[in-house]
Amino acid sequence: MEKDVDIDKVVRQHLEMEQSFSGFALKGKAGTTEPQQQQDNHVQSEAEAMADAEKAAELEKIAEEVHQCRKCGLGSIRTNAVPGEGSPNARIMFVGEGPGADEDAQGRPFVGRAGQLLDKVISAMGLKRSEVFIGNILKCRPPENRDPRADEIINCLPYLQRQIEIIEPEIIVALGAHAAKTLLNTTKPIGQLRGQFHEYYSGLGRPPIKLMATYHTAYLLRNYSQENRRRVWEDMKKVLTELGLPIPEHSTG
Ligand code: URA
Repeated sequence: MEKDVDIDKVVRQHLEMEQSFSGFALKGKAGTTEPQQQQDNHVQSEAEAMADAEKAAELEKIAEEVHQCRKCGLGSIRTNAVPGEGSPNARIMFVGEGPGADEDAQGRPFVGRAGQLLDKVISAMGLKRSEVFIGNILKCRPPENRDPRADEIINCLPYLQRQIEIIEPEIIVALGAHAAKTLLNTTKPIGQLRGQFHEYYSGLGRPPIKLMATYHTAYLLRNYSQENRRRVWEDMKKVLTELGLPIPEHSTG
């Protein structure tokens, strides 16, 4: 059933969103830009370029499998599957819950309103969307955006697990309760999980990957308080610090 839309609220949130996570000035404290500059100055060797091409090919293979997937009922009602997108070398991987209507229509993750806010968060971090990887627990949209079901997660999760194994990000940012609980295999509420680093185990013999749990941007849009925006920004600052990246100065409005 379509829910009534409070147009005033949507417009107000949109305007606030324009200011939040975007109006910051990149003032850059002295000496804090070095790690980024080091990255920019890095000249890729032939071996590294080959490794990158292999990773991209592996990710493409997974994407093709996702597009063919009929393991659960969602496969027969989707418009497009949404495998995820971004850099095969991403240091940060953002993981959401599952595609919504816009993502289903375009076959790309986080392109609707929650996605626009995620773009603002990424840019407030001084990063480009193309530098990170964005994926989801579910690759197909659940009808009416209902919560993912356990059987759907069980069928779909191996795709994300393989993407993580290939990309080997230094940090996973779990957006919202479903991503955090699934990846950490816990029933703890997001309020208890967010704001701290946890460990994601990607397989035997592999070192755990640090996982930061934070609020989903869709939750943030529904609960658009300064306090919630500040909390997400605090979480992202911890991520930047962990990666040795500069923290751009900005206000969460
Ligand atoms: N919400 C999600 O969890 N994922 C998307 O791709 C879009 C919205």
